[in-house]
Amino acid sequence: MKVYNTLSGKKEEFVPLEEGKVSMYVCGPTVYNLIHIGNARPMIVFDTVRRYMEHRGYEVNYVSNFTDVDDKIIKKANEEGAAPSVISERYIAECKNDMEALHVKPATTHPKATCEIDGMIEMIQTLIEKGHAYAAPDGTVYFKTRSFPGYGKLSHKNLDDLRSGGRSLLVSGEEQKQDPLDFVLWKPKKEGEPFWESPWCEGRPGWHIECSVMSKKYLGEEIDIHAGGEDLIFPHHENEIAQSEAANGKPFAKYWMHNGFLNIDNKKMSKSLGNFFTVRDISEKYDLQVLRFFMLSAHYRSPLNFSAELMEAAKNGLERIVTCVSNLNFLLEKAQTEELCAEEEKELLRAKEFMTKFDEAMDDDFNTADAISAIFELVKFANTSVGEGASAAFIRALKDEIVELMDICGLTAERRQEMLDEEIESLIQERQDARKAKNFARADEIRDLLAEKGIILEDTREGVKWKRA
Ligand code: AMP
Ligand code: ZN
Repeated sequence: MKVYNTLSGKKEEFVPLEEGKVSMYVCGPTVYNLIHIGNARPMIVFDTVRRYMEHRGYEVNYVSNFTDVDDKIIKKANEEGAAPSVISERYIAECKNDMEALHVKPATTHPKATCEIDGMIEMIQTLIEKGHAYAAPDGTVYFKTRSFPGYGKLSHKNLDDLRSGGRSLLVSGEEQKQDPLDFVLWKPKKEGEPFWESPWCEGRPGWHIECSVMSKKYLGEEIDIHAGGEDLIFPHHENEIAQSEAANGKPFAKYWMHNGFLNIDNKKMSKSLGNFFTVRDISEKYDLQVLRFFMLSAHYRSPLNFSAELMEAAKNGLERIVTCVSNLNFLLEKAQTEELCAEEEKELLRAKEFMTKFDEAMDDDFNTADAISAIFELVKFANTSVGEGASAAFIRALKDEIVELMDICGLTAERRQEMLDEEIESLIQERQDARKAKNFARADEIRDLLAEKGIILEDTREGVKWKRA
């Protein structure tokens, strides 16, 4: 399996630190709003990397954080007159709902920055003791960038270039830094901000230190893969490397993976341009499987353009695969014989070639675009090779292959059985009757049954309302 490593700028053979195991850290979102479709890209991409690794037999320990203390969270909390934790908990829950709808598996651990402050203070202390950090008179602690010789190795920048690139002077507010390139590890509290006690001042951590600490706590000092969007290469990941390697005295991550950016109609997504979409916005128009399929139709390192036409194309492509599986299910019920004939055995060997093609594409730095082409070829093959007299074993083998390849991509190939409105309403009535009769067990059973089918109930003053998830 080959993985493109931002650190070396090359595709490298993937050799994990421990045989059969993969430790992986993916920088997660700052939770002050519903996640947007750009945030969904690393979630989908690295979830697919994880799923493929698991398919190849690796045991994956997958950690993805929530940044739950940050200026934007504090601003929103002050606007709403609520505590920052109310805002962050709300959007963590919303983010988990979106992840589920996108078929992004929950991480092995989802640490939150505010629960890891002790570890951050400990690492900052180690950095001070080792001469890599210093506290300024007001209690701010800075990382001494020039004390770490490998600084710049990920983003392929060197300190002299950074200094001559306009960073040679201290700007206002930075007077207490020893060098303009030094970055914050700990900062003093401001009025109305959450804060923690520390040896330097009451305050809160800088952003970069949280990932170094959470990665170490949940995965160890050396890990296999560290990942995120390409905007994180500099300074976030560069600073994480400096902190972790200076504190631990060991290489941090073996492979650094970064997804390309998602643009809208070839422009940067931004609220001010009015081209900003949350995952929730998209879910109003499409099944989120379509969004996942769309994202995987491109290579994860390429920039990806989002447009209405491309989403329609993704919807049609997905539909072609789902229809094929639905036809195969229909033919399976009608099949007259179970046993494979000699001709079918040969055909199945040909079908295996598409699976090999899929694996080869994924082995080549997770080329999901080519892997999905292999699924389309298999679908075409199934559509043409399953005729009237096909055996059940033959049809089942082809169907299972399509379903399995789709599943590795986190996509469902089986058409969802939609409940009819009348069926839903009659179950809701039955639940009301059960409640009146104080048969709460049955009432709960019906609620769960409906939830399984994606029907959400809401008890309101005007009665029970329902909607499809
Ligand atoms: P943030 O909440 O801004 O820290 O972002 C969370 C994750 O989403 C990071 O890995 C970012 O690199 C990634 N991300 C943010 N915007 C985009 C975008 N437009 N395209 C792709 N990835 C993005
Ligand atoms: Zn991070």
